[in-house]
Amino acid sequence: MAKFLEYQGKEWLRKAGLPVPQGRVASTHEEAKTIAEEIGKAVAVKGQVQAGGRGKAGIVKLVNTPEEAAAAAAEIFAKNVMGVPVNQVLVEEKLDIKKEYYCSFVVNGAREARSPMLMFSTEGGMDIESVPEELLFKVNIDPINGLQIYDAVDVCARAGIPAQDLSKFASFLSKLSQAYKKYDCQTLEINPFIMTGSGNLVCADCKMEIDNSSVGRHPEFGISIARDLPGAPTELDLIGWSIEETDARGTGFLMNMGYDEVSPGYIGYHPIGGGSAMMGLDALNQVGLKPANYADTSGNPVGSKIYRVAKCVLSQPNIDGYLLGGFMMANQEQWHHAHAIVKVLREVLPTQKSGLPCVLLLCGNREDESLEILRNGLADLMTPDGPGKRIEIYGKEYVTDTKFIGQRLLALSKEYRAEKESQGK
Ligand code: GDP
Ligand code: MN
Repeated sequence: MAKFLEYQGKEWLRKAGLPVPQGRVASTHEEAKTIAEEIGKAVAVKGQVQAGGRGKAGIVKLVNTPEEAAAAAAEIFAKNVMGVPVNQVLVEEKLDIKKEYYCSFVVNGAREARSPMLMFSTEGGMDIESVPEELLFKVNIDPINGLQIYDAVDVCARAGIPAQDLSKFASFLSKLSQAYKKYDCQTLEINPFIMTGSGNLVCADCKMEIDNSSVGRHPEFGISIARDLPGAPTELDLIGWSIEETDARGTGFLMNMGYDEVSPGYIGYHPIGGGSAMMGLDALNQVGLKPANYADTSGNPVGSKIYRVAKCVLSQPNIDGYLLGGFMMANQEQWHHAHAIVKVLREVLPTQKSGLPCVLLLCGNREDESLEILRNGLADLMTPDGPGKRIEIYGKEYVTDTKFIGQRLLALSKEYRAEKESQGK
């Protein structure tokens, strides 16, 4: 899912006419100070990462002066939240909080609903998982007509909002519901939204996730890859996405996995299907090898798509091998893979990666024909001195034997490294 950071989500909410605190995002502590000066009163300094529980992680800080804002920002930038560095902080006016509330809009996929759903609770600010079920109130939303005022009033009344505040809450929630629809959100969670001392409702936090399938309808978001990524997209991610985007036949997933391009032991990783991908990781883990990337060519993709994915996987510099991991029985015509792999290896091995270990495991429909295509198509490279001398081809006998596949890759990659080192490469 395409996810927004808090400050981005709040910008979109502001544009949709919702009340959000005055503030801006900063990438340095100096900038944080400047923003605090502009705001001219006490501020909240909030680390921007894709994770909840920032309060607990110590990256939401409330301060009184611009100097304190700078110090708080510096402290937050030095932190790491679940392995992710904090590169930005949102500096916004500190709210005068009388009470915190929870609301979220999600898709209710249950057969009897199949519609958006609003969840509301007077217990805001804490993890929604820790809110007792009887304090969480739900209402399904008509996908065409949106949240009706009477439904919003009803859900708030059930939650115990006093009568004189019902229309204020209902109109706030109905505006959010319109934003949820307008932006094609999958999830819109405001935890907390708060009532100020003077009785206004304000969005104090924002978690906004856009439906991947709708990203094409929203050029204003500037989302380059409609997919869940751990951080900013890398070049490999962008290429991988362009393969998916330009050809809808089957899956041709390709994604970066934090490969550092200098350390030994990385394998160009090309599993076929999700189960296969887990077994492939097992094969690598057992012998201390690591995947350079993640990939997946399943759902019966055409040869051209498999070819493009394999070519990218193999183009990664300094890899110690290539694993085509057709573990399990992928329910697809495997000769597409066979043709694609033959073409790629014939292009890559002789010119760029002579002697690269290539363990090719291919099982499934038309397996015998597929293995035949691989063997015949690569035979002339697989001579003892040929560029394909470390190609090994396996079929169903090894469909669950991750240990064997890992060991073959390890043995071949050691040989390959030694050979490269002896040639001074
Ligand atoms: P989360 O922990 O990642 O969900 O971060 P939140 O944005 O929800 O902030 C955590 C808590 O900070 C909120 O529940 C509030 O109780 C508290 N908080 C206190 N004062 C303020 C304020 O002025 N602004 C904001 N945004 N949060 C505040
Ligand atoms: Mn929150």
